[in-house]
Amino acid sequence: MPAKTPMQETLRAPMQDTLRALWGIQEIDKDLFRVQEELKRLPVERAAREGELTVLRERIQSGKSESAEEQLRIRELENQAMTHRLRIRKLDDESTSSRDMSVIEACKYEMRELKKEIERGERICMDILEHGEVRSKTIGELEEKLTVEEGHFVELSAGIDEEITAAEAKQTELETQRDDRLGSNLNVEALSLYRRLLTARSGQAMALSDGQVCRACYMALPPNMNVQLARGTAIIQCPSCDRILFKN
Ligand SMILES: [Zn+2]
Repeated sequence: MPAKTPMQETLRAPMQDTLRALWGIQEIDKDLFRVQEELKRLPVERAAREGELTVLRERIQSGKSESAEEQLRIRELENQAMTHRLRIRKLDDESTSSRDMSVIEACKYEMRELKKEIERGERICMDILEHGEVRSKTIGELEEKLTVEEGHFVELSAGIDEEITAAEAKQTELETQRDDRLGSNLNVEALSLYRRLLTARSGQAMALSDGQVCRACYMALPPNMNVQLARGTAIIQCPSCDRILFKN
């Protein structure tokens, strides 16, 4: 006769023993679920804070780029004004030395237009400088805020590292505890359902029942379920929350 495979042994395991064993690890798995959720949450929290810092840095950077562009614009306008003044001086000489009224008028007309142009440029520069002052102040404030926030982030991040280390240690400890308690002679179908429900039901796959209600969702159970539960030969799930019912 061929030797029995472990699978055959497992399938033959009495359901009540499997359910009792699973019930024995349910509390540990509940804690384990919480720890695992924590391990998912912590990096997300860190990334969110890091994202806030990135937004702040980008605001500072774009403010500085705008300032730089405006400095360029001011320089352009100043150069333009300088060129205009040189031209005005030349036109002034020309009109002084000329006797031709039409030339003199043309020079004066051009000089007036150039002066207007210079004044317009000066007004633009004034506007830019006023806005620039407000912006510089804002940038300064943002930079101060960034320095403070970066400091906070370093602390937060170190705290998160500690929390992750602690949670990982707790996770290992709980897994060891659970494996020690679980044993190996289990019904595979029940075990795989239990594992699926752990995920689907936030760490609580099983529910205690007195045969009347499910103690997890407090739904009344149909009378025939009490009989099936008492027999303890099959997996009975709550019709409302799907959890595996266990009668002590
Ligand atoms: Zn239920």
